[in-house]
Amino acid sequence: MGSLDGRVAIVTGAGRGIGRSVALLLASEGMAVVVNDLGGALDGSGSDFGLARGVAEEISGSGGRAAANGADVSDHAAAEDLIKTAVSEFGRLDVLVNAAGILRDRMVFNMSEHEWDDVIRVHLKGAFSTTKFAAAYWRALRDEAAQNRIINFTSVSGLHGAPGQPNYAAAKMGIVGLTYSTANSLAKYGVTVNAVSPGAVTRMTESVPGDRRRTRPGTADERSPDNVAPLVAYLASERSGWITGRIVHAAGYEVALYNNPEPMIRLVGTGPWSLDALAEQVERSFRPKLGHPAPGRPG
Ligand code: NAD
Repeated sequence: MGSLDGRVAIVTGAGRGIGRSVALLLASEGMAVVVNDLGGALDGSGSDFGLARGVAEEISGSGGRAAANGADVSDHAAAEDLIKTAVSEFGRLDVLVNAAGILRDRMVFNMSEHEWDDVIRVHLKGAFSTTKFAAAYWRALRDEAAQNRIINFTSVSGLHGAPGQPNYAAAKMGIVGLTYSTANSLAKYGVTVNAVSPGAVTRMTESVPGDRRRTRPGTADERSPDNVAPLVAYLASERSGWITGRIVHAAGYEVALYNNPEPMIRLVGTGPWSLDALAEQVERSFRPKLGHPAPGRPG
């Protein structure tokens, strides 16, 4: 495509799964890539620097440019070092891809405080921490014409409300809010911010019981994380400057653009609502919009 050549990216969670596919594609398209991965278990425990190093070596072995980083993205100071690594190794930073993540699934009534905190910390604080230091770096450059990109990962778990993942769903919708806010605040520094909602077979989806998986059936080739990478590479490119503050879905051979939330219908009173008047108006106007018959009409 050409508009990736010579650019520099950080991809978090790039030791396996979707992050790895993204790192390999960006590198094969001419980008230098900082491959970040803590290398822990799916629940976030443990660490293994070998994972990030292995992907960085795979890129270097095919003639690409890569550096490995084993930081925990939710460690604020380590996230600052991660941004500095891109600049010290490759002289600049153009693209931040926040793909790192863990799962600690549980129904809300059984969820422990730790299960809640850990998932919010890795996904939401992790995305905030890398975003903060990348944004500070770009702000200091004050280049409105720059083509800088942040690509976050959200999930249908949050967008559609997976019942057994309250922590993960909340973190992923928090990332949507972070995406909207930073798209608005960073535009003047030449930064676009979008969220990708992916679907692919990885360690993460394999852990979800078959009857609860949202990933569509398809061949192993179709459900490969490699099929999410082209959309991320497009968003990372200089061509994509027209899109910011949006959610885009990529799974198999399909990509889809989500609506951003907006009011469906407004009722404006002439003063404070009485409870009776509010109930009557809301039921008359909102109920039919949600597929329920208006009061007094046959169901
Ligand atoms: P994965 O488990 O295969 O990869 C995630 C990687 O993140 C792992 O290699 C892990 O070691 C790394 N990681 C975890 N905690 C980290 C931390 N604190 N610091 C740095 N690295 C850390 O999962 P995946 O399916 O490739 O998921 C990638 C992203 O896509 C995640 O944000 C996930 O929530 C999101 N997602 C995936 C799917 C899917 O269908 N696979 C669906 C919706 C959202």
